[in-house]
Amino acid sequence: MEENGQLDQLLHMKKTTHATTREHASRDLETFPPPMASSRVAVIGAGAAGLVAARELRREGHSPVVFERAAGVGGTWRYDDAASADPLGAGGVHGSLYASLRTNLPRESMGFLDFPFVADEGSVDPRRFPGHQEVLRYLEAFARRFDLLGLVRLETEVVSVRRRVDGAGAGVAGWTVSYCSRKLAGGELQEEEQSEVFDAVVVCNGHFAEPRLAEIAGIDGWPGKQLHSHSYRVPDQFHGQVVVVIGYHPSGMDISRDIAGVAKEVHVAIRSAPCGMQSTTAHANLWLHPMIECAEEDGSVVFQDGSRVKADSVVHCTGYKYRFPFLEEDGMVSVDDNRVGPLYKHVFPPQMAPHISFIGLPFKSILFPVFRLQSNWVAGALSGRIELPSPEEMMLDVMAFYSDMEARGWPKRFTHNLGVEAWTFEYEDWLAEQCGLDKMEEWRRVIYVAARARVSVRLESYRDEWDDDQLLAQAHNDLSKYL
Ligand SMILES: Cc1cc2nc3c(=O)[nH]c(=O)nc-3n(C[C@H](O)[C@H](O)[C@H](O)COP(=O)(O)OP(=O)(O)OC[C@H]3O[C@@H](n4cnc5c(N)ncnc54)[C@H](O)[C@@H]3O)c2cc1C
Repeated sequence: MEENGQLDQLLHMKKTTHATTREHASRDLETFPPPMASSRVAVIGAGAAGLVAARELRREGHSPVVFERAAGVGGTWRYDDAASADPLGAGGVHGSLYASLRTNLPRESMGFLDFPFVADEGSVDPRRFPGHQEVLRYLEAFARRFDLLGLVRLETEVVSVRRRVDGAGAGVAGWTVSYCSRKLAGGELQEEEQSEVFDAVVVCNGHFAEPRLAEIAGIDGWPGKQLHSHSYRVPDQFHGQVVVVIGYHPSGMDISRDIAGVAKEVHVAIRSAPCGMQSTTAHANLWLHPMIECAEEDGSVVFQDGSRVKADSVVHCTGYKYRFPFLEEDGMVSVDDNRVGPLYKHVFPPQMAPHISFIGLPFKSILFPVFRLQSNWVAGALSGRIELPSPEEMMLDVMAFYSDMEARGWPKRFTHNLGVEAWTFEYEDWLAEQCGLDKMEEWRRVIYVAARARVSVRLESYRDEWDDDQLLAQAHNDLSKYL
């Protein structure tokens, strides 16, 4: 939705605050029931966000039901081979992990605040930046430790979420959640669609499943193969090839190195690269370039500085799109250039708060603790323990945030990027204050900031060499009270 549309919403809210007609009923917050000590809540997704949401909701006295379309919990951290048959990721596979993936944060700062992510006797990978299997093990342990598995309905995909108008047409009486579950019956896999009514909905469906591709002039006539990082698993298919990788965020950095181990040459196109081909120190066959100008029918890929290579494959490490296919398209929440909005503090659509909320949209922060704070905020707002501003005030805050972004020249796609400025942890601290919880520990912040800084100066070794042992000892000391 465009900003003008959001302004219209604000004006509309002002006009209809006291509306009683059926036409206005579903647009007026006051027609939702008042906060309830215990709400029945549908949580969509059982990744890190959905699991911690379920925990916080139940702690608050609510009754969450978690819908998860996969066969297990863990979301992104469930390694899934299947995507390799689907080069540009159009097949609906959720997982985006490659086989060699290790975390890009040190484990002690990455974990939930009161459930430390530390190596123990059950660890499958005790390293400080462990492989993905260890993160899945951790999330499964989290679910077991807080007895969440019984709340999760596996192999059950939410297909639609609709507001319900009550019998008299005077107000909104919760949400109808329709879902499709897969069951084995008589040796055959059967799908069954059903609907249930909930007081509230918490959306935790993740945002690393819908690939965003780079637009390349001439790519349709270019004869090589293309792949998105969503579908990349292992480098074998690139043996002896000349490969162009687009993008140099964490996945691009890892995948280009993975491929350089078997390919003849790897050329990485980077938005911020200086002109001219740059070699990298640790890999003699890996070069950095500016972005791609065009691709040609003879197999050439031409970069913006005029340099060119004849390439066999292009790998798009160009990120993902937010997507909510199960939400009704009535303009209340929409996605515009990866801005999900309007949302108050990345969580609540002002007109429907707190009855529908989004957990897990931000990126570039210490995400698991952020998800926990967002979840506590939602749970508290639903029960009435935490008071939200009026819908008008929330919308004004959203508009002010958008104006501020525009004034700074930030594109819309940075809306949910918490790391866009200095590492101030302003959002995280604000959430903690709303919830009446302790702020994130100082050691966690410093370790995180130092780890991010090491990536740019020691890309090849940042996961295995560090110089913050003192902070690490402090972290372990602090976390030991939860072990
Ligand atoms: C390659 C990669 C590397 C990463 N590395 C790190 C890292 O090192 N450290 C870090 O902290 N973070 C990392 N992240 C970020 C990671 O996404 C978060 O850590 C976190 O796991 C996101 O959790 P989530 O619950 O929001 O989403 P997800 O983990 O994606 O979970 C969403 C869940 O919702 C389910 N779902 C979706 N739609 C429906 C539906 N309609 N009905 C039912 N279920 C549905 C999905 O099946 C999935 O299980 C990485 C991400 C990627 C892609």
